[in-house]
Amino acid sequence: MFNREEYLSNSEWNAFLEASKDFATPNIFVNTTSIHHRFVQLKDSFPYAHIYYAVKSNPGIPVLKLLDQLGSNFDIASRYELDRVLSLGVSPDRTSYGNTIKKAKDIAYFYEKGVRMYATDSKEDLKNIAKYAPNSRIYVRILVENSTTADWPLSRKFGCHPDMAYDLLVQARDLGLTPYGISFHVGSQQRDIGQWNDAIAKTKYLFESIEEEEGIKLSMINMGGGFPAHYIQPTNELKEYASEITRYLQDDFGEDVPMIVLEPGRSLVADSGILTSEVVLVSRKNNTALQRWVYLDTGKFNGLIETLDESIKYPVITEKDGSKEGEVILAGPTCDSADIMYEHEKYKLPVDLKIGDKVYWLSTGAYTSSYASVSFNGFPPIKTYYMTKDGLFDENDNPIAKPE
Ligand SMILES: *Cc1c(COP(=O)(O)O)cnc(C)c1O
Repeated sequence: MFNREEYLSNSEWNAFLEASKDFATPNIFVNTTSIHHRFVQLKDSFPYAHIYYAVKSNPGIPVLKLLDQLGSNFDIASRYELDRVLSLGVSPDRTSYGNTIKKAKDIAYFYEKGVRMYATDSKEDLKNIAKYAPNSRIYVRILVENSTTADWPLSRKFGCHPDMAYDLLVQARDLGLTPYGISFHVGSQQRDIGQWNDAIAKTKYLFESIEEEEGIKLSMINMGGGFPAHYIQPTNELKEYASEITRYLQDDFGEDVPMIVLEPGRSLVADSGILTSEVVLVSRKNNTALQRWVYLDTGKFNGLIETLDESIKYPVITEKDGSKEGEVILAGPTCDSADIMYEHEKYKLPVDLKIGDKVYWLSTGAYTSSYASVSFNGFPPIKTYYMTKDGLFDENDNPIAKPE
């Protein structure tokens, strides 16, 4: 159904097969060389931007170490992520607390660790930041509408109306904080580049009005993530995103473009991962059913949560690709009927697919392993292995020996 070579070169594929062949399934192999390339490509496309990696997309230590070496900054969602990043010796001034939903005691924790840049979108949170992280820099997240063209929308729950963002920035100043900028996230895997245009226009309006009316000069625009990974549905190339978005910025801000922050997650790490699963059962619901059910040894609760509502459509390949194919429903192994990955989207797999065959899920380096349940139905969380130029490591950077 899918042409593997569209996603991975022969040498990448062969290196993966060689490294992974003796490991029990399910597992995910992440190739950090691919992340390295993506980071360099992003830097080249947006030479003026400061990159804050969204740690939640893949918090593996080998990934964080690589990005640290490449000079990335880090956008952090919780104190646990902060500990993980600081444990590598990253200086706290290279981090931001980007989650707008936080406890007062966590703000105090970040402040004590030296973090001085905070996102907010509400009055109560702002008051807590003023109290527990005095003098820090504040950026306010604005609401943007993105639900139909982003495959994994991040609207509604986060951000506030621009009028409210204005008020929050004024209050930030009055509370002794530094009103620093505006942030937005146009939705993850955003396929419509024009979404950045609308968000930048709203931002421009805020920059202008707050300077005119309040004398507050904002310094920074945080344009979030949303850049594409390579799944089934086509997107533009990253360089297309970059040239369009750069033009929007110049159209609105001319020579006076503020400091630009990007918070990529998916676009840096997704394409580096391959999830290997094994067929547990192939069955039909009646004697003449045309569709087969293919049950795998992993599913929604163990790495594939982004198949929720069939939102992210991963390319799936098998060892038997090339032979005759037929429609399947793809499901996981747990006793929960929500554990179905694809039913409406018609995936086709070889008709001779058998119990024990391997099924590979490409582009699964982002939002997979860290989303796995702890032990639903007793299944342990899926393991991730990181292929680096120094060898194979687990998510805590322990070297991995080949299985016997
Ligand atoms: C999750 C998240 C990101 C990463 O978004 P991607 O679309 O995966 O690149 C960036 N910023 C914030 C605030 C996020 O919550």
